[in-house]
Amino acid sequence: MNKKCMAANWKMFKTRQEAEETTRELMSLTAAKLPSDREVLLIPPFTAIASVAATIGSKTGFGVGAQNFYPAENGAYTGEISPDMLLDLGCSWALVGHSERRHLFHEDNEFLAQKVRFGLERGLNIILCIGETLNERKNGQLATILNKQLTSALSDIGYTDIASRLVVAYEPVWAIGTGEVARTEDIREAHDYVRSELKKIFSSAADSIRILYGGSVKPDNISEIITLDNVDGVLVGGASLQAESFSRIVLG
Ligand code: PEP
Repeated sequence: MNKKCMAANWKMFKTRQEAEETTRELMSLTAAKLPSDREVLLIPPFTAIASVAATIGSKTGFGVGAQNFYPAENGAYTGEISPDMLLDLGCSWALVGHSERRHLFHEDNEFLAQKVRFGLERGLNIILCIGETLNERKNGQLATILNKQLTSALSDIGYTDIASRLVVAYEPVWAIGTGEVARTEDIREAHDYVRSELKKIFSSAADSIRILYGGSVKPDNISEIITLDNVDGVLVGGASLQAESFSRIVLG
């Protein structure tokens, strides 16, 4: 059975030294306390991936991910980073489709599908982020949006080990960085829906695909979120930047 995934998205924060210090502090705050059914995934900016990977070393229960990559092996793509370059840094996971990529950088479902396919093919494990805007929710489009984001990114992906290579993060856009957490019934409803859609795509393998919740997760709300059915971890932005607060989430 997969462990609960406690992921930290550090966005465009932290120099190498700051990232190393936070990693060291987090490892010390969680030392000997990390439950055997949990793992920690640190997702720093590109520039700090190698430092964080080196700081973690071979410590079990900790991994490193990237916030983005470009779906090509190499080539004339100025400013972009390939999956092979990330693997070379000791990075084994990557986010695809974070709402900031979708909305600020206009990455559409078709491009994100290319990323998921290419990233998996090159050996990265993928965290596919999905979620509706407030307007979409108010207009009753939750299911339509999640269905579209999932099916466009995941149809035709036929890996037998998909449950260990793919994670889906449900992150309602209106709850990211706003301090507004989805109600437990909203999280339950969305996660149940995601699970049922994954079953349509991957049959019984979908039972073991982890579904994370993301959106203003904090030390004081982690325990009610992490215990919900079909919540297999969390993706945390703001509250993951300080080791002290993220350690309380990781252990919460
Ligand atoms: C995120 O960036 O994925 C996120 C969930 O951010 P925050 O925890 O700050 O809402």
